[in-house]
Amino acid sequence: MSKQEMKTQLLGMTPEELSAYMKELGQPAFRAKQVFSWLHQGVPFAEMSNLPKALRETLSQTCADNPVSVLETIESKLDGTVKLLYCLWDGHVIEGVLMRYKYGNTLCLSTQVGCRMGCAFCASTLDGCARNLTPGELLGQIVCANGVLVAQGNGQKVGNIVLMGSGEPLDNYDNVVKFLRILRMEGGLCIGMRSVSLSTCGLVEQMRRFAHEDLPVTLSLSLHAPNDEVRRTLMPVARRYPMDEVLDACRYYIEKTGRRVIFEYALVHGVNASPAQAEELAGKLRGMQCHVNLIPLNSVPERGLMGVSEREVDAFKKALEQKNISVTRRREMGDDIEGACGQLRRRYMSDNAQTSV
Ligand code: SAH
Repeated sequence: MSKQEMKTQLLGMTPEELSAYMKELGQPAFRAKQVFSWLHQGVPFAEMSNLPKALRETLSQTCADNPVSVLETIESKLDGTVKLLYCLWDGHVIEGVLMRYKYGNTLCLSTQVGCRMGCAFCASTLDGCARNLTPGELLGQIVCANGVLVAQGNGQKVGNIVLMGSGEPLDNYDNVVKFLRILRMEGGLCIGMRSVSLSTCGLVEQMRRFAHEDLPVTLSLSLHAPNDEVRRTLMPVARRYPMDEVLDACRYYIEKTGRRVIFEYALVHGVNASPAQAEELAGKLRGMQCHVNLIPLNSVPERGLMGVSEREVDAFKKALEQKNISVTRRREMGDDIEGACGQLRRRYMSDNAQTSV
């Protein structure tokens, strides 16, 4: 983990911002388009072949082409899932997961270094949130993962993005919105909003504001409980926003964007996983254009919370189906490589506890 000096982050600038920057350097505006395209292809300044040599040298000295670099990759022998550990320019470490599905490569991005939401079952939040990730650091994770795919001889780039790694995306609102606007631009990564999912623990004001951004991504809502009483034991955010308000914000998002909402529900043994609780949940979701994604909990021993058996998952799923709620069980990927949120980063941090971050 080497710290570098703070350099200007060109990745994460809009084409307009990049034009202004080129102008400051005395360059014609069309250079911005060239640099924008190279940056998103992961090409270092020295190899940006259509730029004058002197400009390439100036940029190398004063700017970062990618503020993120890959520290370690671990590939699952089970399904080819790749867990990525990245290093940021200031020495912080974050993680991501690259999943291979029949329909293409999906990358799970972190949005913050750690998280301050405090969910009881989540490893990402155990040390709080060190800082937000910038738009360049969000794009940079994708550029890095594309580099890993090329190195593996995989012709396909990352096609789908899920904002489901460490951090609460709507707690880093401005950077995430700017990232999404750049993500879909032609000449850049060109990934459309239909290929993006954003997962939130349910920050109601930001959800309502986000519905107006004209960024119709799939919204995933981490619900994890059939009522406020249970939700409050798992998620501190539930003390701030009652479930009714969260569900109203979901209805609002559906109305404004026409997209259905996905409810994530991690089954925790003895807490939220009984068939009676499935029925209670079905009652709350009745009539909503939604889908429930059941996640068998990755047990977090630090918090004493345990996952459920196959039988419990099936019984919960059946109870929802009987109430006509669309439901699937999330496929577990990379089970052998600490695929769950924050787990790999935690191991890395404790293995390297002597090295200051
Ligand atoms: N902050 C956002 C996104 C990050 S977490 C959110 O809360 O949605 C992505 C998903 O993984 C969330 O649904 C989260 O609740 C879930 N998750 C976190 N830790 C988990 C664990 N140990 N087992 C199963 N799911 C977990």
